[in-house]
Amino acid sequence: MNTSFFELFKIGIGPSSSHTVGPMRAALSFVRELERRNVFGSRITVDLYGSLALTGIGHGTDRAILMGLLQESPDTVDLNAIDDKLNILREEHTLNLFGTHTVVFDPANDLRFHRNQMYPDPDHATHPNGMRFALLDDDGNNLFAQVYYSVGGGFVLTAAEFAGAGSGEKRDVPYAFCNAAELLQLGDDHQLSIAQIVFANEIALLGDPAVARRVDRILSPLRPGNATALKQSKPEDQIRAAILAIWRVMSDCIERGIRTEGTLPGGLNVRRRAPGLARRLERLDGEGKTRDPLAPLDSVTLVAMAVNEENAAGGRVVTAPTNGAAGVVPAIAYYYLHHASSDATSEQREQGLLNYFLTAAAIGILYKENASISGAEVGCQGEVGVACSMAAGGLVAALGGDNSAVEHAAEIAMEHNLGMTCDPIGGLVQIPCIERNGMGAVKAVNAARLAINDPGIHKVSLDQVIDTMYRTGMDMQSRYKETSLAGLALNIIEC
Ligand code: SF4
Repeated sequence: MNTSFFELFKIGIGPSSSHTVGPMRAALSFVRELERRNVFGSRITVDLYGSLALTGIGHGTDRAILMGLLQESPDTVDLNAIDDKLNILREEHTLNLFGTHTVVFDPANDLRFHRNQMYPDPDHATHPNGMRFALLDDDGNNLFAQVYYSVGGGFVLTAAEFAGAGSGEKRDVPYAFCNAAELLQLGDDHQLSIAQIVFANEIALLGDPAVARRVDRILSPLRPGNATALKQSKPEDQIRAAILAIWRVMSDCIERGIRTEGTLPGGLNVRRRAPGLARRLERLDGEGKTRDPLAPLDSVTLVAMAVNEENAAGGRVVTAPTNGAAGVVPAIAYYYLHHASSDATSEQREQGLLNYFLTAAAIGILYKENASISGAEVGCQGEVGVACSMAAGGLVAALGGDNSAVEHAAEIAMEHNLGMTCDPIGGLVQIPCIERNGMGAVKAVNAARLAINDPGIHKVSLDQVIDTMYRTGMDMQSRYKETSLAGLALNIIEC
């Protein structure tokens, strides 16, 4: 295991982790690299390839690149200031780097979309989400260039890191695992739950400066006194507080999604449906009638859709494991708190929530490290499919199920998402994405219940289904992988 909980669950902005959060982080990283190398020129150019070029406009890649070049980060950018900053850049065509240097960047000419081409790397394998940033001198000569790949879930690798299939050295954790079988073995050997294993690893990962910085940034928005006290507290208290802070960002997103009426941006004229669905559920409750026994499932669908409507509107969301699939994991956390833990004390409920997220993280990390969480690489099975698998396993853990039942639930959930393609209409993360999160969340509840109600040996392991998902993704024609060249995107006329 080389990925931290806090790298999988990242605070960012919509609508896409691979096409918005990743490119913004890449652009910011490029500018910081210029500063680190102390190299300055007169113009910056950016080239986008493959899926980023084909669906980049609908996914906000252009805006994200510009904001990254303006040295904004997805987790801290002021969402209300984005339009003003972009308008100024589009008018003035200049970037001020570090307050000392000015370079030309004309978005209309210097941000280029290569729609028929993957990034042509002659030395290494390439990826569908390639970007090349270059700094030029007055005569247009290259002073420094960097290629990045946005590999899903907001993770970004340079071409060299991608060729080495990772971002550096293996990290030191007390319970290292490479696959689900090793994870289960660790649990047996040490008599630990999956959540306890991940928690212990996260405490160790706090010693990694990159992870410590992330946790620090997550804790910072807490009330000043509390945040300072927390940063000086025991590592286990920091980890707990940071996980709960992530859940608060998700909860705020649910609230905004349920409250906000209107039409989503992008031109498809998709109406936000979460507020109306919420009103209907409340009305049925308020009339004092016998509740529809399936109302809890309706609320799961509604919460998942609320999050993804916020995501589609470019709001503040948490990757889980991606933006496009960001609704499933919060919806099942909500389900656990509101419909599946009524007998628990508030302390038990909080521990159940922590177990849920820690276990879901372990499952998400297995997919990220052994397969892919990028729709452009393996289709939607790698996004909503993975989110469904994470949420199913996490729910079993929250309800007190053992490691074997967690593994079984995660396997069932993915088994019935295998082959799911990615074909968003108009390149927007709206249709089928928003409803698909609702369906994925309901499927996660089903998978968890099946695993709990039918314990024992099962035929297909989680490792086998992860491998099958990846191979299926590799066999899938590229036009079904976040290109908007097939499927619903081809057959539905935009209006
Ligand atoms: S179809 Fe799935 S993978 Fe594709 S953009 Fe939508 S949520 Fe993401």
